[in-house]
This record gives sequence, structure tokens and C-alpha cells, in this order.
Amino acid sequence: MQIVDGVEALIPSIRAFRQQIHAHPETAFEEVITADLIAEKLISFGLEVHRQIAKTGVIGVLRRGDGPSIAFRADMDALHIAEANTFDYISKVSGKMHACGHDGHSAMLLGAAQFLSTDPSIHGTLVFIFQPAEENEGGARVMLEEGLFTKFPVDAIYGLHNWPGLAVGQIAVTAGPLMAAFDTFELEIQGRGAHGAMPHDSVDPIYIAAQVINGWQSIASRNVNPSDAAVVSVTQIHAGDTWNVIPANCHLKGTTRSFSPAVRNLIEEKMQVIAQSICQGFGATATFTYQRRYPALINSPQEAQIAKQAAARVVAKAQVVNDPQPSMTAEDFAFMLEKKPGCYVWLGNGSSAQGKNLHSPKYDFNDDILPIGISYWIELARSCLGS
Ligand SMILES: [Zn+2]
Ligand SMILES: [Zn+2]
Repeated sequence: MQIVDGVEALIPSIRAFRQQIHAHPETAFEEVITADLIAEKLISFGLEVHRQIAKTGVIGVLRRGDGPSIAFRADMDALHIAEANTFDYISKVSGKMHACGHDGHSAMLLGAAQFLSTDPSIHGTLVFIFQPAEENEGGARVMLEEGLFTKFPVDAIYGLHNWPGLAVGQIAVTAGPLMAAFDTFELEIQGRGAHGAMPHDSVDPIYIAAQVINGWQSIASRNVNPSDAAVVSVTQIHAGDTWNVIPANCHLKGTTRSFSPAVRNLIEEKMQVIAQSICQGFGATATFTYQRRYPALINSPQEAQIAKQAAARVVAKAQVVNDPQPSMTAEDFAFMLEKKPGCYVWLGNGSSAQGKNLHSPKYDFNDDILPIGISYWIELARSCLGS
């Protein structure tokens, strides 16, 4: 392990910041206190600070004469989860917690900004992006719609996420797809209600929903090429109120995941056709809606190579996990990678046992990785902007 000289000295204040925002989690587009704290610190480091892009987003710009322009991004938002930990900096906000480690991501990027603000070896422009609303709401997309890269033109962009299950001291990097496209769907089946003892009088939407769900499961197994990845998950079924009445309606909701645009199109098209034709066949009507949420996260080859080299200078080459198996989870940094070349990596957060997984009420960001993440950002800055 090669923690950059001078980083350890920053850790006490960076850890204190991390635990402070862990105790005060704020969810999508409401990261007001978090953004104030970040802006205050960036100003104290001498950076140019811009506020209120995508409501609560904060941008810090470090200008060092001529040279390339590179962006580093961290997310700031928490989740609607009631924390089940017992340490003293546990969430003070009922029903909200930093269960994805975005407190740690913001802290590490702040540490890097602090260090780089006095590092004479870089030439060019560094744009530090503190993004709101990564979870579900697509804060990255909103930042882009509000002109992020017009106001702050950059040549490339980098991001990272802590990764439970990957050992502390390991960084996983790949060129190409790393995280999946994420979409949501809803189906309203309108049948005809009847007495539970007289099914022949009904058009039973629950029975029809069962056929539709089975039909949808054939998409991944029968339509998608087996060498491509696809997930169709029905995660909600709502129908009926009592034991002996067949209801008139059944409402289904769920999510799909894919990597390639062709598979994504195929899933949407097949779900629509299967829902419509099965419902029609049974005499019910189907109202199907499909919403495209986040695209797949795809790293560009050249920037992935730069990220691998920067990671190897911190954690040693043997600890860089090359080309990990992609995850079917999603990440809105994908929107930024649609606009700019760049690379997003996973930073080992240690064991995921005993509930220490992302989005678990027992999760906590591992403060032992603060110096590793900060050193990675610094080495990346030196790779991209070094003299
Ligand atoms: Zn998350
Ligand atoms: Zn996250």
C-alpha cells in the first residue's frame, strides 16, 4: 500500500466530516446541510465554488494554468432506510441513513480537493463534482440538463463507489460495461370482479397476472441471447381486499436490468407484447408503462487504463482487480459517461458479512479506506494533469 505522503495528516478531519454527515443524512435533492458543509470546506481550500446546480449540487474548481480539464465526481445523498447500527454517530434523522457510503465518497473527494489545492505538480483544471440524488432520482442527469459540461467543459470524468465484498486495499477496474441499465415498469390488469365461489362470472386479474409473470420470465430465458445479461423482476403485486371476492384489478410493478441497448429494447418490446396478448386472450385489458431510468455504465478503454495505473500506484498492481464481473445494480454516473470518456471503479470496503452490504440498515462506510480513496484521486489527478 502506498498512501500518498501527507494524506494521513488529513484523515482526522476528513473522518470527522464523514461521521458528521453520516449522523445527518439527507435524501435526494435535499442535501442542504451536506452541500453547505462541502462548499464551506472547498472555499477554505481556496477553490472556486459554484452552487445549486441540480438544486443542491456543489462544484469546486481548481485552476492551475494551461493543461487538460478533468472532472472527479462524488455523490452526497442518503437513503430512506432506518439505521440499525449502534455507534455514536448513528443517523439522527428518523428513517434516513447513509446506507450506500455516499458520506464516504464525499469525504474522500473533499480530502483529495484539500490535498490537491496545495499540490504544485498538477497543471490544468480539476472540477470536483458533488452530485445530489444518485439514488433513484438521477441527479447526474439533472446536472447535465442544467449544463454541467457546458459550464465546466472537461476532457474526461472519473468516479468511484465503495464496494462491500471487495477486500480493503483492492480496487476493481474494467473497460466496458460495469453496471447495468435500470428501468421500471407497471402493468394494470383490468378484469371483472365476482364472488370468490363463482369464478366463471369473473375475468380474474390475479390468475391473468400469474400468466403474465410466467410469460415475462421467458424473455431472459428464451429471447435474449444466453451470452447477454437480462433481468426482469416483478417486485410488487397489488390486488384484492378479502377472502371471498375475486377483484376487478391487479397492479404489477417491477424493474428490469440489461447492458446492451439491443437487449434493453427487446425487453421493453416483449414485455409489452406479452402483457397485451395474454390479457387480451383472457378478456382483460392491459395498461402497460415502461420507464427508462438509468443507462448502462460503460467505461472507456483509455480512461480505464489510466485508472488501472493510478490504482496500481496506490494498492500495488496485484491488488488491482482487472475486469471484475459486472453488477446488475445501476448507477447514474452512467449519464455522465454517455457524454464524456471516463472510468468508474469499485473501491474495496471489506467484508459484506453481518449486514455490511450496500442498502442494508447495518451498513457503514469503512473509514479505513479513506486514505486509499484519497490517494487514488490524487494519483489520478497526477496521471491526468501531472507535469
Ligand atoms: Zn445505493
Ligand atoms: Zn451508492
